[in-house]
Amino acid sequence: MVAEWTDEGEACIRSVKKIYAAGSTRFQEYLIAELAGIGKALVLDGKVQSSLFDEHWYHEALVHPTLLSHPCPRRVLVIGGGEGATVREVLRHSCVEHVTMVDIDKELVELAKKHLPEWHQGAFDDERLELVLEDGRKFLSETSERFDAVILDLVDPMEGGPAALLYTLEFYKLVAGVLEPGGIVVTQASSPVLTPRVYATVRNTMASVFRIVRPYVTYVRSYNGLWGFVAASDAVDPAALRAADVDRLIRERIRGTLRFYDGATHEWMFTLPKPIRDSLERY
Ligand code: SAM
Repeated sequence: MVAEWTDEGEACIRSVKKIYAAGSTRFQEYLIAELAGIGKALVLDGKVQSSLFDEHWYHEALVHPTLLSHPCPRRVLVIGGGEGATVREVLRHSCVEHVTMVDIDKELVELAKKHLPEWHQGAFDDERLELVLEDGRKFLSETSERFDAVILDLVDPMEGGPAALLYTLEFYKLVAGVLEPGGIVVTQASSPVLTPRVYATVRNTMASVFRIVRPYVTYVRSYNGLWGFVAASDAVDPAALRAADVDRLIRERIRGTLRFYDGATHEWMFTLPKPIRDSLERY
């Protein structure tokens, strides 16, 4: 069984049908297994990170609104994203010339290369990809490189977890420092329904660094419902893109067929339901 607990003491329990790999790296406990309802999945520290059932709902939602709202992102930084699916989506953009992916966990990336080919689909072999195996915060504080877009695909900011310091004011200032003028950053930001305070805190913290801050959502059954993201920039605004613009930009700039994201879906993601707007106001 995999049991995912909320702060309120609820649990979502899934039976494990088949185990491909299980153990601990230096940074986290992992399980790669077939789970009831969502199929093959990566679980870290007891939390489902993505599953074959709907990883595209998450990874396409994380990557494409941000990259399409930039005029032509050539250099992209991904922090986290060990499964390789985030860089897979970034590399579909014809503008992209270089992607740096920084993940803290070498062992986990090796496990993903071996056991999660459906996620990375060869992305780790793309010559535009540079893989750096170190802490994302350390990388940002030492690099002299600059990027058009930064994509933060990290585990949730739970106390003591390896990404706890990558949702802080100091961290977003480091991100702002590596963005080219006109650049944009996006982060996954937990559940606006199950952990509304965390979601609002990410939005508020980014708002003290960036001029334009846009919370948006998708649905991910593997994460038990709606899932939140926040995009931020001093120059470009993904919420200003209309459905027809998005459909045209997809045709012009993204290779292959998307399974989740299109113009109508973009407008839906940036139209937050009233209870979520209210809870963002409250915190
Ligand atoms: N889709 C996921 C979610 O919403 O829960 C995130 C998935 S991805 C597997 C998370 C990645 O963040 C992992 O590969 C982990 O190793 C990486 N990570 C955690 N802390 C990190 C840090 N300090 N620096 C870089 N990568 C980190």
